[in-house]
Amino acid sequence: MTEDKVTALDTGDELPWQWPEARWRDIVGKVRAGRSLKPARWKDGARCAVALSFDSDHETGTLRTGGTSPGELSRGEYGARAAMPRIRALLERTGIKASFFVPAVVALLYPDEQRANVAEGHEVGIHGWIHERNSELPRDAERELQMRSSDTLEKITGVRPVGIRTPSWDFSPHTLAISREMGLLYDSSLMADDDPYEILENGEPTGLVELPVEWIRDDYPYFGMDRFSPIRPHVAPSAVLEIFKAEFDGAYAEGGLFLLTMHPDISGHRSRIQVLAALIDHMQAQEGVWFATHAKIAQYCLDNA
Ligand SMILES: [Zn+2]
Repeated sequence: MTEDKVTALDTGDELPWQWPEARWRDIVGKVRAGRSLKPARWKDGARCAVALSFDSDHETGTLRTGGTSPGELSRGEYGARAAMPRIRALLERTGIKASFFVPAVVALLYPDEQRANVAEGHEVGIHGWIHERNSELPRDAERELQMRSSDTLEKITGVRPVGIRTPSWDFSPHTLAISREMGLLYDSSLMADDDPYEILENGEPTGLVELPVEWIRDDYPYFGMDRFSPIRPHVAPSAVLEIFKAEFDGAYAEGGLFLLTMHPDISGHRSRIQVLAALIDHMQAQEGVWFATHAKIAQYCLDNA
């Protein structure tokens, strides 16, 4: 907020409380939630859909800010080396297909990991080039990076990505137009609903499906840690399981979508992989739960809502 005020003052621009109605309406109306795409019933009569996703940030968590510390980079390397085999084994044991959102730089560092994911029936989606903050980029740079990221993933896996999760869910005023130009099926970076919806651009339907995320359904806010800031993990794995279960139970009761975002270098640790394993046990114990990749769920919503 402080930065916004300084910018407005520096440019001699009007401050938000001075804006005419047309201005704030225009800002709010740029990217908006349109019609709900929640189907009456999910695939094969299922009552609820579950989309598990992993943002495979690995070393780009450090590289994105220009970091070069081998110590910090090793925390990301853990994601590829120790966490991914554990996660893939759990998915295989439970028969669940998941979505992995992978920065292109990570795909280039670990091409075999991406190929194995695809070979095992999982989806690989766009997650930026080097986990850049797209809202800080000029439009042309954002567009070029998003397109190059998609090309890179396709070259490595042999499959053209159909969906994007922007790095850090950072969504610039240009992101939607770029995703539309690329003909993507879905985005999974916005938060206007619990259930899928069609994204509107300046009030017009885009045909693009939003599979909404939320920080509540993300492992990072509970477990993330920055050595040089006061942020420390302070939530027990059992408490995180309680929150995730409650989110799933709510989705089940409403016949909606439960979408969870995790990070291999966060959730792949021994004390935390158990949260996911217990959550999967809980969900698989219910009748009529459809587990699928983001791509499959987005397509189903588009065809059946
Ligand atoms: Zn990420």
